[in-house]
Amino acid sequence: MGRDLIALYTAAGALLAAGIMASCTTSGIESTANLDRVPTGSKLTQGGVTEKQMFSEIRVVKRFIPKGRYGRKVHRSMKPRYITVHSTQNYDGDAWDHARALERGKLRAPKRRGGNRIGYLTWHFTVQQDVVMQHLPTNEQGEHADFDGVGNNYSIGIEMCEHRGNSRTQTLERTAKLCASLMRQYNLPLRSVVPHYHWPRKGLKPEHKNCPHYLMTNGRPGRKWNDFLQMVKREYKRIYVPAQIASRGFADVREKEAIYQGL
Ligand SMILES: [Zn+2]
Repeated sequence: MGRDLIALYTAAGALLAAGIMASCTTSGIESTANLDRVPTGSKLTQGGVTEKQMFSEIRVVKRFIPKGRYGRKVHRSMKPRYITVHSTQNYDGDAWDHARALERGKLRAPKRRGGNRIGYLTWHFTVQQDVVMQHLPTNEQGEHADFDGVGNNYSIGIEMCEHRGNSRTQTLERTAKLCASLMRQYNLPLRSVVPHYHWPRKGLKPEHKNCPHYLMTNGRPGRKWNDFLQMVKREYKRIYVPAQIASRGFADVREKEAIYQGL
């Protein structure tokens, strides 16, 4: 996302103030931590975790943009084929601040033909060292990558926080686990995990954004990005696929959900 986003924050003038008010606004938060654990002693606990356990490990807090408003005013369904990784380049706002800004419709972008389609910036997850905030269901399109391109139409958008005091290492570990869990959930290969850089932005210069900037090498994917992908791969390999799912190949998401609940 980067500098465009910072400019918007400055324009809105809201984030820092929102940060100060943050401590009392925890109502309505639904944490998925510790839910859906496979019972101890189950053979599923041997040799790894299930995708749902990994999702729980990273503490995903759902704070959806209100349905029918702001960035979700128009419903745009999505079948995820990619996962796009960004970093905020916002040194003041944490994940809670971003959640608040999104759910209050504060992140505006000029809507224009060939550009932003909805007048708002939206994405699915914001990750910081100790939590992951979810802003959109993963079966809805965000507005974070490439206007009307494949990146917006088919990818889950993840923003990594960069506020002062936030551990970059822990943020990357959490992001890698989130990517791995989503790859399993949607049956996506490692090559489907891409940096924002991957998506050309028609009409903008540079066409490919230097994002997430600290994982790019001279402004493009190189060794640091590959190291991150290796981290995703290691997490992916930790995920155990229950026999009921493995034996059928890929079950659709609802079908899988039912299988997990029956375990
Ligand atoms: Zn970006």
